[in-house]
Amino acid sequence: MNYENELKTALYAVTKACRLCANVQNSLAAEDTLNKSDRSPVTTADFGSQAIVNLVLGNVYPNDDYVCEEDSDQLRKEESTELRKKVHGNVTKIFQTVSEEEMLDAIDIGSGDCDFKGRYWTLDPIDGTKGFLRGDQYAIALALVVKGEVVFGVLGCPNIFYEEGNKGVIYFATKGFGSHALSIETGETKKINVDAISSPDKAIFCESVESAHTAHSQSAKIAKLLNVSSKPYRIDSQCKYAAVAGGDASVYLRLPTRPGYQEKIWDHAAGMIIVQEAGGKVTDINGKDLDFSKSGQLTDNSGVVATNGLLHDAFIKAIGTINE
Ligand code: AMP
Ligand code: MG
Repeated sequence: MNYENELKTALYAVTKACRLCANVQNSLAAEDTLNKSDRSPVTTADFGSQAIVNLVLGNVYPNDDYVCEEDSDQLRKEESTELRKKVHGNVTKIFQTVSEEEMLDAIDIGSGDCDFKGRYWTLDPIDGTKGFLRGDQYAIALALVVKGEVVFGVLGCPNIFYEEGNKGVIYFATKGFGSHALSIETGETKKINVDAISSPDKAIFCESVESAHTAHSQSAKIAKLLNVSSKPYRIDSQCKYAAVAGGDASVYLRLPTRPGYQEKIWDHAAGMIIVQEAGGKVTDINGKDLDFSKSGQLTDNSGVVATNGLLHDAFIKAIGTINE
């Protein structure tokens, strides 16, 4: 099966969403942020980005299933008029003629049932919202999953440099066709590959900035066990997958902070295939493949380990040792 048209559409959608997010991050104000029921932050850019991507996809693929991080419940409330106007203002800077109602409906494109064993899209409109708020890295993550298999992934990273003086990269990978980086500024693309480091002591590993999202204390133990000499490279969002895919790090560790936390599919689908197609390997901390055929969560997995492939077994073994 060829997914060329779907990929083209996804790249267009993510490029537009990157522009919206960059606009908002450059002029971020206190009223751009609110807290969700789980107390995690959400911004006007999360809603705007989801609206932009879904307006594009929903128009071309109205019959597909969608699993997206956000919904419009907060925005539809009567007391949210100002917030809704703000999101709408940002969206119409990208697509001028979209009405408020069309925008809200686009945000909710994934509100129906999803057949996780069929064909569905999964979107994190801003992965790493905390990084976004700090002015650091974040990503717009979109993937197409068919029969449990991620067939392509797109990661928009507006704050990563393609090369010096050229900011904004979209990483993308289609199964069987390798991983690529695309410059948002120039449209240039290059193939990317994992590094060739085979000795754990020479590895650079990356992990979340947020200690609530990964167990820093556990990764420190693993680093000690494997004589890893460099400090962890801490970076928000699926930019960690991009770092491994492009050889800026050899390993990405996401170690459970508490038993029972289930990773969200939109936090991993796009990043996973970008690492795999760059020559790397992605599993959970027990060495099991990530299973995207169950639900919005990786119900059968615990944590995530992404590596250049060469280092995978050593890190999985070390995790097993410290967890004994
Ligand atoms: P990061 O940018 O690596 O810090 O990851 C951000 C993502 O962490 C968010 O999209 C959340 O879905 C996810 N997250 C929230 N709580 C946890 C948790 N306890 N463990 C792992 N991931 C989490
Ligand atoms: Mg996320």
